[in-house]
Amino acid sequence: PTMAHSKALLVLENFIGGKFVPCSSYIDSYNPSTGDVYCRVPDSGKEEVEAAVKAAKDAFPIWSSKSPLERSQILNKLADLIEHDLEAFAQAESKDQGKTITFARTVDIPRAVHNFRFFASSILHHVTECTEMPAMGCVHYTSRAPVGVAGLISPWNLPLYLLTWKIAPAIACGNTVVAKPSEMTSVTAWMMCKLLEKAGVPAGVVNVVFGTGAKAGEALVCHPDVPLISFTGSTLTAQRITEKSAPHCKRLSLELGGKNPAIIFDDADLSQCIPTTVRSSFANQGEICLCTSRIFVQRGIYSEFVKRFVAEAKKWKTGNPSDPTIDVGALISKEHLEKVRSYVKKAQTEGARVLCGEGVDPLALPPDNQKGYFMLPTVIAEVKDESCCMQEEIFGPVTCVVAFDTEEEVIQRANSVKYGLAATVWSGNVGRVHRVAHRLQSGLVWTNCWLVRDLNLPFGGMKASGIGREGAKDSYEFFTEVKTITIKH
Ligand code: NAD
Repeated sequence: PTMAHSKALLVLENFIGGKFVPCSSYIDSYNPSTGDVYCRVPDSGKEEVEAAVKAAKDAFPIWSSKSPLERSQILNKLADLIEHDLEAFAQAESKDQGKTITFARTVDIPRAVHNFRFFASSILHHVTECTEMPAMGCVHYTSRAPVGVAGLISPWNLPLYLLTWKIAPAIACGNTVVAKPSEMTSVTAWMMCKLLEKAGVPAGVVNVVFGTGAKAGEALVCHPDVPLISFTGSTLTAQRITEKSAPHCKRLSLELGGKNPAIIFDDADLSQCIPTTVRSSFANQGEICLCTSRIFVQRGIYSEFVKRFVAEAKKWKTGNPSDPTIDVGALISKEHLEKVRSYVKKAQTEGARVLCGEGVDPLALPPDNQKGYFMLPTVIAEVKDESCCMQEEIFGPVTCVVAFDTEEEVIQRANSVKYGLAATVWSGNVGRVHRVAHRLQSGLVWTNCWLVRDLNLPFGGMKASGIGREGAKDSYEFFTEVKTITIKH
């Protein structure tokens, strides 16, 4: 398959046992900024998953017996190769997902590169535990070993970024993998497969099976020879995966949705808070699990905040994602755009006010993008806490702003949703940010900033936002099995 003719469809193939293999049926994949079908993705099922798991099982003995240093060198090589093609990967990610080229260039692909480098380094620095029992003449120590074939399932919002966040630690620890990217955003994973051999990744260590969740994803989840599943996606899918994997007692890591609050106290530095909160609401079209979608503002500064926030949101330009001056690209699909829009309509029928964006401001698009899935950054005010817009994950460029009076009240309201992924707290009062951060039901709390990450530290959600954590130590523990050994002299 080549992209020789711009009108010819790009056809992807599965990558199994180090070889590209065609599939018997395919799914159409759309360019979200034009609405055109431009790519065909294998519609894999049981048979393809079976072949991929077999290849991964066959590769496991050799890969798992390599030293961490050997694996580390291969991961670093792969990082270099992706970085060398950064521009091609960024263009592909933007076209496939609808995200702006700027976001793909500065966030998605650099982070995919960094994921490999990070785990190439961190795998060299783990130490195991040891305790002594002199009276018994014993010493105990722990040893960690890779688990086997890891099943990795990722979503469409940050395609290569999130897939490599799983592949890198899984293979660094010595596992082999079968990965299934989202059927809507498969291209960059396929491009990465083309670099594996050159990086020195042995055949069968990384297998990629493309297709839908219902067919390919479920076949992987149900496969008896895949003892662990790392999944990032929606809470609904996670419930299904939990049910389907239960008979096999699989080890699961689940990174799910959010309904993330921003809490803004009256002593916040608004010159920092406003642009950051606009970014946390609308970055990547609001299609990041960590995006802010409920903004609680203390009553004394509410009017000023709303005025300045809306003015800042209106500066964000929506349009052709390949234009580097554009801030908001296209949403992933027509269905998703309609779903996001329906939340705005629902809010209006409930008496909320749309301050800017959808249905309020004109959206001017270039001729080629008229059929794309675009939507303006939208700010909704006067929404009730019980409204679906304040309870459910919208996952689009929509954010709600409401007023609050006291610290106690805002903690209760921020915690009154089923999710618990990320929160931001804005205040100049150190005591207050500590108090509030401790009481928020949230896996991550950022105070006076957003999305500042140290990959060493745990990442993950509470409540319906997930089970398990990822990070240097957490991913190592997930992707290895520990054993306690006792020696008596
Ligand atoms: P999704 O759950 O629909 O799909 C995620 C992946 O699971 C896809 O690859 C899909 O094909 C697969 N899948 C679907 N049904 C399956 C099944 N029955 N068995 C096995 N696999 C199945 O999610 P999405 O719409 O692609 O992604 C958006 C969601 O992901 C949002 O809820 C977002 O918050 C969440 N997300 C979470 C994080 C995080 O780190 N917590 C990061 C990004 C996105």
